[in-house]
Amino acid sequence: MQSRTSPLARTALPFALRSKGPARDTWYEIDLQAIRHNYRQLRARLPARVKIFACLKRNAYGCGAGDVAETLAAEGADGFAVASLSDAIAIREKGVRQPILLYPGPLPGSAPIVEALDLTITVSSLVELELWRAALTALRMFVKCDLGFFRAGAAPSDIGRLLAVAQASADVEVQGLYAHLSELPGTVAANALTQFARLQRIVLDARAAGTLPPIVMLSSTEGVLRYPEMDFDAVDPGALFFGMPETDEPVRQVSLRPALRAISTSLVAIKHVDASLEPLPDLPGFESGMTIGVLGIGWGDGYPRRVPPHAEVLVRGHRARILPPAHLEHLRVDLTHVPEARFGDRCLLLGRQGDEVITHKDLVTQWGTDLVGLHADLRDHIPRVYV
Ligand SMILES: *Cc1c(COP(=O)(O)O)cnc(C)c1O
Repeated sequence: MQSRTSPLARTALPFALRSKGPARDTWYEIDLQAIRHNYRQLRARLPARVKIFACLKRNAYGCGAGDVAETLAAEGADGFAVASLSDAIAIREKGVRQPILLYPGPLPGSAPIVEALDLTITVSSLVELELWRAALTALRMFVKCDLGFFRAGAAPSDIGRLLAVAQASADVEVQGLYAHLSELPGTVAANALTQFARLQRIVLDARAAGTLPPIVMLSSTEGVLRYPEMDFDAVDPGALFFGMPETDEPVRQVSLRPALRAISTSLVAIKHVDASLEPLPDLPGFESGMTIGVLGIGWGDGYPRRVPPHAEVLVRGHRARILPPAHLEHLRVDLTHVPEARFGDRCLLLGRQGDEVITHKDLVTQWGTDLVGLHADLRDHIPRVYV
């Protein structure tokens, strides 16, 4: 019997269509050239002996771990660091061969993937070490220290024994020792300089004990720009590559360019609000006789759940107000003052259109977040277009 279904329903979609087809004509524009530029800015200011492990966690801050890793590997990045296996998989799928350090996150149950992808794990305690050793035939690891951030990592007093036990195991290769320099906001916990001194002490003790691994790594974006004395053997910044300096007091002066060039969506409906629809909702911005547009993006796509006051979008080079409430897949926009707007028009939540621009600063102010927060709101199901 002959099938009545369409050819597309019967056969798998061609790969190009599956991976490149814009989801509801909403996408992020990512500037790989800016990421290259930012990497070169850092590389040029670091001593040649200091390795760069690019931190590409959270899908490279929403910019696409695979494509970003491929770009940075071509620039000469020494390694990568991620917190989830999906990011490590995306990087290996691009054929990137550099070491990938897994920050704390994946558990020993993921040993088969760790082995298949040739990943380096993080170990913060003897318990973790034993469980990973039981799960893997051979393991490559970094020991993580907690210098006063109260997150993962062994306390300074436990590092010596952890290093000694790990180094004594024939199936274990301890490649590095690292920590994340960070201060807890609004507390009197150990500050950056105290944390640095703690790591220096740990390094001295490990060297004396003959257990110091080849790589000691501390600085992320803020540290690498603000404290050149803390370079050690390697650094693992992330935000920097996407144009976020993370400090107002840089000692290393870099001119960074934003990687996220635009958040682009489309007008998926336009209508005139006439009497046939009334009564009007008792919500800010609704007026009889207005023109309403519907955008193909919603809070399920990373837009704030509550539409911020003064939220705007660019339509045909004009600013148009976004009206509350937000929906999972749609937003409303007041197009009364943009009569030339048409179904299918491209609209920008971030970026330049004609003479108008919505800057990163505008957007993070609107959304009540910061640049890293904005990047973390980028969703993996929205396609990224690389420019
Ligand atoms: C997030 C993170 C980094 C990178 O931080 P940035 O501020 O993005 O440079 C480095 N190391 C660890 C352990 C992290 O968790």
